[in-house]
Amino acid sequence: MIVAGSIAACRKAMHDLQDNRGSVGLVPTMGALHRGHLSLIQAARTRCEAVAVTIFVNPTQFGPGEDFAAYPRPLDDDLRQCESAGVDLVFAPDVETIYPGGECTSVHVGGVTDVLCGPLRPGHFDGVATIVAKLFNILPADAAFFGEKDYQQLVVIRQLTRDLNIPIEIVGCPTLRESDGLAVSSRNAYLTPSQREQAAVLSRVMFAAAERAACGERDSSELMGAMRLEIANSGPAEIEYVDIVDAATLERMPIIDRPGRICLAVRIGSCRLIDNVAVDTPSKAD
Ligand code: AMP
Repeated sequence: MIVAGSIAACRKAMHDLQDNRGSVGLVPTMGALHRGHLSLIQAARTRCEAVAVTIFVNPTQFGPGEDFAAYPRPLDDDLRQCESAGVDLVFAPDVETIYPGGECTSVHVGGVTDVLCGPLRPGHFDGVATIVAKLFNILPADAAFFGEKDYQQLVVIRQLTRDLNIPIEIVGCPTLRESDGLAVSSRNAYLTPSQREQAAVLSRVMFAAAERAACGERDSSELMGAMRLEIANSGPAEIEYVDIVDAATLERMPIIDRPGRICLAVRIGSCRLIDNVAVDTPSKAD
């Protein structure tokens, strides 16, 4: 496994992989790797001949007061995990390498960033789109793998590549969950034991709502009301949003008449948890 810190070394390693091995699958991460990240690496290994992982805690996608400084950075352990997962190239640059002299050019993806987390985290998706565009230029992979865990991010990146004609296939991968349904996340470590127990309510209410939709309930506000009530009854929690949106455009969907996504963001203690599940009409529900 090659570990590159500079852009030149990364470009060369990428070029060599494409010459000698064939297609390369890219898995962008912020490190602190867990089973969710490893499932993306596994998906990339299945679809491509070689796998490149990036590890970069991107400052421009964190807002003031968010956890950029505190974000875990266990690089040695991450590299060990990449090695045993069969990764061929890791690009782990420092901030100066990616933003020498600060950041002057930024990529803004319109429309799909105006809803859900967009208004609540101003600048976040510009930071995401900019770093992903930069990584796609440094590592021109054949396919890039992103988790449905960050569903809005996946939709933003699909639109970014479409709008900027970037020839990289975007592959969405299912969310890995703990046994009680909580989506695996580096930030779950911020939860106390009782908050951790409470956090299981989030996936439970979403799966229950998806099940009701599969059985014929088409009224989104009825489903959203039930989800809000159960979250509020679970203990201290601040609901930022609970929404049902079109799976492709993220537009609000008052009536469930096509593939949609139930999305939520809830604060439990100091931890902001986001999650989502698919929802569809009875004939097509998964
Ligand atoms: P992060 O390191 O949090 O930026 O995540 C890197 C990639 O891993 C993103 O595409 C995430 O959507 C994905 N990811 C994070 N958690 C999970 C999970 N529980 N299951 C599947 N993918 C995940």
